[in-house]
Amino acid sequence: MTTDQTLGITIFCTITVVGVLTLFSVYLMIGMAAQDYGNRHERPKARGADRPSAGVLFWRALRRKCPICGRGDVLRGYFHMNQSCSGCGAVFWKNEGEWTGPMLIDFIFALAASLYAWAALVYFSYSVAAQLWLTGAIAAFGGIAIMPWSRSLWTMFLFVTGEIEVAPDPTK
Ligand SMILES: [Zn+2]
Repeated sequence: MTTDQTLGITIFCTITVVGVLTLFSVYLMIGMAAQDYGNRHERPKARGADRPSAGVLFWRALRRKCPICGRGDVLRGYFHMNQSCSGCGAVFWKNEGEWTGPMLIDFIFALAASLYAWAALVYFSYSVAAQLWLTGAIAAFGGIAIMPWSRSLWTMFLFVTGEIEVAPDPTK
Protein backbone atom coordinates (compact mmCIF):
# COMPACT_ATOMS: atom_id res chain seq x y z
CA MET A 1 0.00 0.00 0.00
CA THR A 2 1.34 3.43 -0.90
CA THR A 3 1.65 6.31 1.56
CA ASP A 4 -1.21 8.10 -0.21
CA GLN A 5 -3.49 5.11 0.21
CA THR A 6 -2.65 4.78 3.91
CA LEU A 7 -3.27 8.49 4.39
CA GLY A 8 -6.55 8.35 2.45
CA ILE A 9 -7.83 5.45 4.54
CA THR A 10 -6.73 7.18 7.77
CA ILE A 11 -8.67 10.33 6.83
CA PHE A 12 -11.70 8.22 5.86
CA CYS A 13 -11.70 6.30 9.17
CA THR A 14 -11.24 9.46 11.25
CA ILE A 15 -14.21 11.21 9.63
CA THR A 16 -16.34 8.07 9.97
CA VAL A 17 -15.57 7.64 13.68
CA VAL A 18 -16.24 11.33 14.43
CA GLY A 19 -19.39 11.17 12.28
CA VAL A 20 -20.76 8.08 14.04
CA LEU A 21 -20.11 9.63 17.47
CA THR A 22 -21.84 12.85 16.39
CA LEU A 23 -24.83 10.96 15.00
CA PHE A 24 -25.06 8.96 18.21
CA SER A 25 -25.17 12.10 20.38
CA VAL A 26 -27.77 13.65 18.06
CA TYR A 27 -29.78 10.44 18.31
CA LEU A 28 -29.67 10.56 22.10
CA MET A 29 -30.67 14.22 22.08
CA ILE A 30 -33.63 13.61 19.77
CA GLY A 31 -34.53 10.53 21.81
CA MET A 32 -34.80 12.65 24.96
CA ALA A 33 -36.80 15.31 23.16
CA ALA A 34 -39.10 12.65 21.72
CA GLN A 35 -39.69 11.20 25.18
CA ASP A 36 -40.79 14.62 26.43
CA TYR A 37 -42.96 14.90 23.37
CA GLY A 38 -44.58 11.52 24.13
CA ASN A 39 -45.23 12.51 27.76
CA ARG A 40 -46.72 15.84 26.83
CA HIS A 41 -49.12 14.24 24.43
CA GLU A 42 -50.31 11.72 27.00
CA ARG A 43 -52.45 14.49 28.43
CA PRO A 44 -56.09 13.72 27.80
CA LYS A 45 -56.56 16.83 25.63
CA ALA A 46 -54.31 15.61 22.82
CA ARG A 47 -55.92 14.15 19.76
CA GLY A 48 -54.55 10.84 18.45
CA ALA A 49 -53.91 12.32 15.02
CA ASP A 50 -51.42 14.79 16.51
CA ARG A 51 -48.91 12.06 17.32
CA PRO A 52 -47.22 10.73 14.20
CA SER A 53 -44.58 8.05 14.88
CA ALA A 54 -40.84 8.69 14.46
CA GLY A 55 -40.81 6.80 11.15
CA VAL A 56 -43.72 8.83 9.77
CA LEU A 57 -42.08 12.08 10.93
CA PHE A 58 -38.82 11.16 9.23
CA TRP A 59 -40.56 10.18 6.00
CA ARG A 60 -42.44 13.50 5.99
CA ALA A 61 -39.16 15.37 6.54
CA LEU A 62 -37.60 13.55 3.58
CA ARG A 63 -40.55 14.47 1.41
CA ARG A 64 -40.37 18.03 2.82
CA LYS A 65 -43.92 17.89 4.14
CA CYS A 66 -45.48 19.34 7.27
CA PRO A 67 -44.46 17.18 10.27
CA ILE A 68 -47.91 17.51 11.82
CA CYS A 69 -50.30 16.59 9.01
CA GLY A 70 -48.00 15.44 6.17
CA ARG A 71 -50.04 17.38 3.59
CA GLY A 72 -48.69 20.93 3.35
CA ASP A 73 -45.22 21.67 1.95
CA VAL A 74 -42.54 23.04 4.27
CA LEU A 75 -40.86 24.75 1.30
CA ARG A 76 -42.24 27.10 -1.30
CA GLY A 77 -39.18 26.88 -3.55
CA TYR A 78 -35.70 25.46 -3.32
CA PHE A 79 -34.54 28.15 -0.90
CA HIS A 80 -37.79 29.58 0.45
CA MET A 81 -39.92 28.30 3.26
CA ASN A 82 -43.65 28.52 3.67
CA GLN A 83 -44.60 30.40 6.82
CA SER A 84 -47.33 28.00 7.71
CA CYS A 85 -48.79 24.70 6.59
CA SER A 86 -51.41 24.85 3.83
CA GLY A 87 -52.87 21.58 5.15
CA CYS A 88 -53.31 22.23 8.88
CA GLY A 89 -52.36 25.89 9.37
CA ALA A 90 -49.52 25.27 11.85
CA VAL A 91 -46.82 27.98 11.81
CA PHE A 92 -43.49 26.28 11.02
CA TRP A 93 -40.93 28.73 12.38
CA LYS A 94 -42.23 31.05 15.06
CA ASN A 95 -38.83 32.66 15.75
CA GLU A 96 -36.83 34.64 13.22
CA GLY A 97 -33.60 33.09 14.49
CA GLU A 98 -34.49 29.55 13.46
CA TRP A 99 -32.27 29.63 10.39
CA THR A 100 -29.21 28.97 12.58
CA GLY A 101 -30.19 25.31 13.08
CA PRO A 102 -30.52 24.43 9.39
CA MET A 103 -27.36 26.40 8.69
CA LEU A 104 -25.50 24.16 11.11
CA ILE A 105 -26.87 21.08 9.31
CA ASP A 106 -25.79 22.58 5.95
CA PHE A 107 -22.35 23.27 7.33
CA ILE A 108 -21.83 19.81 8.85
CA PHE A 109 -23.06 18.11 5.67
CA ALA A 110 -20.80 20.24 3.44
CA LEU A 111 -17.85 19.58 5.74
CA ALA A 112 -18.44 15.81 5.79
CA ALA A 113 -18.90 15.66 2.00
CA SER A 114 -15.70 17.60 1.35
CA LEU A 115 -13.69 15.58 3.88
CA TYR A 116 -14.81 12.28 2.32
CA ALA A 117 -13.98 13.63 -1.13
CA TRP A 118 -10.59 14.69 0.18
CA ALA A 119 -9.93 11.20 1.58
CA ALA A 120 -10.74 9.70 -1.85
CA LEU A 121 -8.54 12.23 -3.69
CA VAL A 122 -5.61 11.54 -1.38
CA TYR A 123 -6.13 7.79 -1.78
CA PHE A 124 -5.94 8.06 -5.58
CA SER A 125 -2.91 10.39 -5.39
CA TYR A 126 -4.51 13.47 -6.96
CA SER A 127 -2.38 16.61 -7.03
CA VAL A 128 -2.65 19.12 -4.17
CA ALA A 129 -4.26 21.63 -6.56
CA ALA A 130 -6.94 19.12 -7.54
CA GLN A 131 -7.50 18.29 -3.86
CA LEU A 132 -8.06 21.97 -3.06
CA TRP A 133 -10.38 22.73 -5.98
CA LEU A 134 -12.44 19.57 -5.82
CA THR A 135 -12.98 19.57 -2.05
CA GLY A 136 -13.96 23.27 -2.25
CA ALA A 137 -16.40 22.61 -5.09
CA ILE A 138 -17.92 19.60 -3.33
CA ALA A 139 -18.32 21.56 -0.08
CA ALA A 140 -20.16 24.36 -1.92
CA PHE A 141 -22.30 21.95 -3.91
CA GLY A 142 -23.09 19.76 -0.87
CA GLY A 143 -24.03 22.76 1.24
CA ILE A 144 -26.52 23.94 -1.39
CA ALA A 145 -27.83 20.47 -2.24
CA ILE A 146 -28.78 19.67 1.36
CA MET A 147 -30.59 23.00 1.97
CA PRO A 148 -34.24 21.96 1.44
CA TRP A 149 -33.76 18.88 3.62
CA SER A 150 -31.92 20.73 6.35
CA ARG A 151 -34.93 23.04 6.59
CA SER A 152 -37.52 20.27 6.65
CA LEU A 153 -35.45 18.20 9.11
CA TRP A 154 -35.15 21.23 11.36
CA THR A 155 -38.91 21.79 11.17
CA MET A 156 -39.41 18.16 12.22
CA PHE A 157 -36.96 18.70 15.09
CA LEU A 158 -38.84 21.82 16.22
CA PHE A 159 -42.10 19.87 16.20
CA VAL A 160 -40.60 17.01 18.22
CA THR A 161 -39.20 19.44 20.80
CA GLY A 162 -42.61 21.11 21.11
CA GLU A 163 -41.74 24.39 19.39
CA ILE A 164 -44.50 23.99 16.82
CA GLU A 165 -47.99 23.87 18.17
CA VAL A 166 -50.81 22.17 16.40
CA ALA A 167 -53.16 24.79 15.04
CA PRO A 168 -56.65 24.76 16.59
CA ASP A 169 -59.06 22.62 14.62
CA PRO A 170 -61.23 25.07 12.59
CA THR A 171 -64.16 22.64 12.53
CA LYS A 172 -64.58 22.85 16.32
ZN1 LIG B 1 -49.71 20.60 8.36
